[in-house]
Amino acid sequence: MAKYNPYDNMLSVLESAANLLELEKNDYEVLKYPERTLEVSIPITMDDGSIRVFVGYRVQHSSVRGPCKGGIRYHQNVDLDEVKAMAAWMSIKCAVVDVPYGGGKGGVTVDPTMLSKKELERLTRRYTSAIMPLIGPERDIPAPDLGTTAETMGWVMDTYSTLKGHVAAGVVTGKPLEIGGSLGRLEATGRGVLFTVQEVIKKQNLKPGETSIAVQGMGNVGGMTARLLYEDGFKIVAVSDVSGGIRSEEGLNIPEILDFIGKGGFLNEYEAENIVRLNNSELLATKCDILIPAALENQLTEKNAEYVQAKIIVEAANGPTSVEADEIFKRRGILVVPDILANAGGVVVSYFEWVQNLNSARWDLDRVNDTLQSKMVESFNAVYKMAQDKNTTLRMGAYALALERLVVSLSIRGIFP
Ligand code: GLU
Repeated sequence: MAKYNPYDNMLSVLESAANLLELEKNDYEVLKYPERTLEVSIPITMDDGSIRVFVGYRVQHSSVRGPCKGGIRYHQNVDLDEVKAMAAWMSIKCAVVDVPYGGGKGGVTVDPTMLSKKELERLTRRYTSAIMPLIGPERDIPAPDLGTTAETMGWVMDTYSTLKGHVAAGVVTGKPLEIGGSLGRLEATGRGVLFTVQEVIKKQNLKPGETSIAVQGMGNVGGMTARLLYEDGFKIVAVSDVSGGIRSEEGLNIPEILDFIGKGGFLNEYEAENIVRLNNSELLATKCDILIPAALENQLTEKNAEYVQAKIIVEAANGPTSVEADEIFKRRGILVVPDILANAGGVVVSYFEWVQNLNSARWDLDRVNDTLQSKMVESFNAVYKMAQDKNTTLRMGAYALALERLVVSLSIRGIFP
């Protein structure tokens, strides 16, 4: 089997959506290529005095609808194809939820758990200085992603501002509140997933109390999603982290589990009554109404898609489902709410943060959450309608909606020169 290439995955879905819209090749050819790709080396002095050189990237997929926008990922598997794919997914995601951004993404090939905080700070500052020619509040605005946090964004903001000689809060989103971050940004992706789940169960005539959920991944997105769903009365029957998963028929005590994880614990050491231990494959195949992959890409593949027992999959991670698995879910009648819709809450609140920064303003939490809810509900229904009109899946509906918007902007702007 050929090695999984996320960029090929993205291109293949884009191509299908273009066919669905009966687009001409000329209408969308530009979108198959990232506008700019930068690879940088990042030398840092480690705490023991040795020098190590890491490799990083920043890819700008499209600025046709606005400045490029997208996170920075620190993970040992980061490579150029992954960053290119994620940058393109950001262009599409921003178009689905109709925020005035294009798409970008950055990454460093590093396992951040192996570095000390001081080493991570040096890495972040050197990486920021290396991608300086590309980023800026009107150009390309990074944010957190896997392996990076608000603290990381604070270092990016400070490095950029120091090198520019003026404070530029709007260069990055997902910052700490004290330096221009937005209320509600930390929870935003999880809250967006909650709003999506609420909409999808309405369509399926389910009620929270009678809906069981399994979540793969207990990082910022998975953990927050599980917490908010639990608080909303959903029954979380299974969760997992890198160490493994747990299941309880009666439903798990999510706040207690998150406290345990917050203190540095791994789920394989978590003890509670009536829990059964699961490995990753068992978690994905566990009995539930809704499965929420909230970890890495390419988790649901042709190898395990037949075993999934959920009726609905809500993609909180980026790219968790392979093209082959998508076909299997379609044939089996499993409803998949795609990443570019389901996890867009993060970038939506990033947009609110940026708007606040540009206006030196501060929104209260209700304003952030209410505006996020309207955006998510409106986008979900627009995607749902497109999928129904075109008699296709929600993924294709979302891509079609995004592509339609991107193609209109492209045709109005035209091609320079
Ligand atoms: N990393 C998040 C994503 O993949 C958020 C990006 C952003 O806020 O710019 O959507």
